[in-house]
Amino acid sequence: MGRAIGIDLGTTYCAVAAVTAVGKAEVLMNREGERITPSVVMFQDGITQVGTLAKRIAPTAPDDVVQFVKRQMGEASWKFQTSHGPSFSAEQVSAIILKRLAEDAELMLGEPIDAAVITVPAYFDDARRQATRDAGNIAGLNVVGIINEPTAAALSFGLDTGFEGRALVFDLGGGTFDVTVMSIHGGEFAVEATEGDRNLGGFNWDNELMSLLNKKAMEAGAPDLFDDDLATAELRDKAETAKRTLSNVAESRIVITAGGQHHTLTVTRDEFERATAHLLRRTETITEMAMEQAGRTWADIDKILLVGGSTRMPMVWDLVETLSGQAPDRTINADEAVALGAAVHAQLLLNNSAPGASALPVIGHHGHTPRVLDVCSQGLGVIILDEDIGAEINSVIISHNTRIPAQQERTYFTVSDNQDSIRLRITEGDDTDVDYVKIIHQHPLEIPRYPAGAPLRVVMSFDVDGIVHVEVFDETQTPTASLGEVELDRPSNLSRDEVDAKVTELNLMDIN
Ligand code: ADP
Ligand code: MG
Repeated sequence: MGRAIGIDLGTTYCAVAAVTAVGKAEVLMNREGERITPSVVMFQDGITQVGTLAKRIAPTAPDDVVQFVKRQMGEASWKFQTSHGPSFSAEQVSAIILKRLAEDAELMLGEPIDAAVITVPAYFDDARRQATRDAGNIAGLNVVGIINEPTAAALSFGLDTGFEGRALVFDLGGGTFDVTVMSIHGGEFAVEATEGDRNLGGFNWDNELMSLLNKKAMEAGAPDLFDDDLATAELRDKAETAKRTLSNVAESRIVITAGGQHHTLTVTRDEFERATAHLLRRTETITEMAMEQAGRTWADIDKILLVGGSTRMPMVWDLVETLSGQAPDRTINADEAVALGAAVHAQLLLNNSAPGASALPVIGHHGHTPRVLDVCSQGLGVIILDEDIGAEINSVIISHNTRIPAQQERTYFTVSDNQDSIRLRITEGDDTDVDYVKIIHQHPLEIPRYPAGAPLRVVMSFDVDGIVHVEVFDETQTPTASLGEVELDRPSNLSRDEVDAKVTELNLMDIN
């Protein structure tokens, strides 16, 4: 029987789930018996340790411990330098975490895993999605798909409750923030709009609380804790605990040891909320943008789902309730829903690829097999010369929040007589200002010499896995002729050979 798992690879915590014999997804515990695993890796004395133990060691050995690596995914220049020599990219560190998660999952299932789906924030761009897939491959997994975290959470919720209607998923985790508006009907889970910030999460709330606590410690006579790596790591750990405490009680007390002295510091929820009000406001702005993009008003929203550990902060509940005029749903498990939805998606994909007796059935939604319809979270376009303003602008071809797979085209005109080439620059982003978009591919293209104003048609498509194809047609010729097709090469991502080499490296490591 084909077994598939869903992995929620979070900035701070991961969860793994699989569809069981009764057709429902369940969370798989790790070898320590925990339902979530901290996304933390420690490299010490040739031993690689993943999870709670590594997280516990972080405050005392910050140089040997790497965490929040999801923030660096797809950034080719970032490396974690271990004290014993080797350095690791974000994909590799993620692969170490994934490998450990998959090993534990196989242990729990008692059989090998045939396929995996890994989740990503809806707002992740193409390079980060590809980096996530690479990490899975480095870990030796057969990555059959990538699913957006809010979509996965809604899928799990919909299957569990049979909910039909329109939901807003507000996902505030450790490092990322996503808002998704989706409609759920007859087994169809259709995303209408998604907005987010891939660098907004509990981590930012921790940073503000750290500054607040440091200020209080200095007022009490302690040295600046940020001047010392070890003191900073300890402060981070204590601030995070204090933050969680403040979700339940109005006041939290922590003890800081610095300069040979103990300082007892008190922080109130009120102080914390004031210090982080600007972060909360940012989630509000993004939520309103998502509603606008979906073309919906709050009256159109039947259900609000809060996902991600940071939604436990009372300020988040209050904000969402004030904005929407309705109480968020309290039944969804903020820590597990994403992994559960990913498991369902993984099993469905595996069943589709190998139908027949080996398929593990998934309990549907009102008798329908669930189907996920997503949108692209970033616009795609090309840079063109705008003759009216005499400057280059970004021309969006597939706009953000278009249902995928998508294919769109636009026709442009050459600007000079006898022009024999164009520089095709493919962009990701929605702004017309070229400074606010990312060029994901450049490619010179030869064109026949024509008088200025020759039409060139650019056809762009975006498939369900987020792969982009671009083809340019010469419209002067009849029939129109293709001038070339572009395969996106992603300079920030790894080649097949590089992935293979890293698989071997990882196999030689002793991961605990
Ligand atoms: P991710 O998926 O990004 O790893 P999670 O959804 O697991 O994130 O959420 C982790 C974040 O939630 C951390 O920043 C953690 O401090 C925060 N968190 C967890 N529980 C609470 C709580 N009770 N109050 C406030 N924040 C919390
Ligand atoms: Mg998460």
